[in-house]
Amino acid sequence: MGNVGEEGSLRKLFDFLTGKKLEWESMGETYDVVYIGNDKYEFKAGKENFRKQLKIYFPNETKSIDVYLKLIDRANRMGNVFFFEKIFKPILSQSLGWLIRKRYEVYSNKTTAEVLSKITSNKRLLAVLCAQCGNYGLTPKHSSFAAHAMVVGHFMEGGYYPTGGASQIANKTIDTLNENGGAVYINAKVDEIIIEKNRVQGVKIEGTFIPCKSVISNVGITNTFTKLLSESARKKCNIDLKNVSPSSAHLCLYLALTKSDAALNLPKHNVWYFDNENIDATFDEITLKNAPEKFAYISFPSAKDLLWQEEHPNTAIIQALSVGNYEWFKQYENSSWMKRDEAYVEIKKDFENSMLERLYTLFPQIKGNILITEVSTPLSTKHFSNYQHGEIYGLEHTPTRFSLPFLRPETKIKGLRLTGQDITLVGVAGAMLSGMLCAITILKFRVAALFKEMGQ
Ligand SMILES: Cc1cc2nc3c(=O)[nH]c(=O)nc-3n(C[C@H](O)[C@H](O)[C@H](O)COP(=O)(O)OP(=O)(O)OC[C@H]3O[C@@H](n4cnc5c(N)ncnc54)[C@H](O)[C@@H]3O)c2cc1C
Repeated sequence: MGNVGEEGSLRKLFDFLTGKKLEWESMGETYDVVYIGNDKYEFKAGKENFRKQLKIYFPNETKSIDVYLKLIDRANRMGNVFFFEKIFKPILSQSLGWLIRKRYEVYSNKTTAEVLSKITSNKRLLAVLCAQCGNYGLTPKHSSFAAHAMVVGHFMEGGYYPTGGASQIANKTIDTLNENGGAVYINAKVDEIIIEKNRVQGVKIEGTFIPCKSVISNVGITNTFTKLLSESARKKCNIDLKNVSPSSAHLCLYLALTKSDAALNLPKHNVWYFDNENIDATFDEITLKNAPEKFAYISFPSAKDLLWQEEHPNTAIIQALSVGNYEWFKQYENSSWMKRDEAYVEIKKDFENSMLERLYTLFPQIKGNILITEVSTPLSTKHFSNYQHGEIYGLEHTPTRFSLPFLRPETKIKGLRLTGQDITLVGVAGAMLSGMLCAITILKFRVAALFKEMGQ
């Protein structure tokens, strides 16, 4: 996560949600390292450090780098207003809201490649600037510059990891919910949201009807409107998903190692590997056979976690992922988790071997120190998170996505609200922002008291 350091803009919100029980560990001065073939580029925390480092790599591009950083700032300032507009009531949204959306189109309606090609023609610089595109799941030719700017801006002051692991984000938030009279249910699959006379009546969970007046759905716009609601509800809310696709999916190798991160000299930073500087072409060429040869994202959760060695002494973990197309696995979609075909297991094994090759070239010291391996596919994402195409980040972050009028917390059905990454943007931060916007539509003017309590 970005922006959760002591002064970070999301820190107060996390402190509020978790009663200050969630702690964050900085990933250090360098939060991302990009490899393009054998060439290495470090992303330094802090805008001025970031700028300085880029200028060292690209001394002939100093002006372009300044223009780029200015543009990121401008786009994000306007982006914040664009997202805030999502809580406007229809009448304000049609007038002032229209103006806000129109102004943001300068960024949101253009692809990252279109915007960046106006700043520089240096292919290597373009590749380095776009190397974090895996964070929003779309290459420069297809992604909206608005998504690029938001995600790059999010990490500009550095990366942070929740102490105790990513599960602590949920665990510590659940503690607060329980303390305040809430209740959280897991393995409780909602089959249907029941609507009568244009009003929410309740939900059905595995055949059991639970009456309620209000439903806030974060299961994604596609799930909400194609799985949980009828076609008439979809029509009522003017949901038209034909111009926007699910984001791409992924394959991931999870490794457990027999020595500590320190003993193996593993870094805290993430690694983005591309085999050449043309990111769009690289992604177009990816197949099931060559994915890790072309692209890999590698992270070291145990190295980032202060508590890991206390709880799991003399071990380390690595996650290494690449692009994975749902279509490659579609023929196995009707089999169940851990009971799939032998051929499916073989595919996973092949991926494991080719990803290990990639890892051994970058981190040869892990060879001979592997304890456990496991591979996830887009079917795993579907199994665990219920994204129908195993998509990694909900709806894809194209220019079209930013023009969809129904990606707002309030719907035309009374009592039905939407939240989560689809309403704003990918990431824990995007989902939190959606949550805030949705809460504001419920609390209305009472939100001032909430902000006061949060010290905002
Ligand atoms: C491999 C991977 C790595 C990532 N790394 C990062 C990162 O480092 N930093 C970052 O900020 N973001 C990261 N993200 C993105 C981040 O996880 C998402 O953007 C964020 O979790 C979205 O939150 P959400 O609430 O919108 O949806 P989700 O977190 O997907 O929550 C939706 C929940 O609804 C449940 N659900 C679905 N259907 C039903 C149903 N019918 N009934 C009941 N429950 C249902 C799902 O099981 C799921 O738990 C990563 C994502 C992936 C896949």
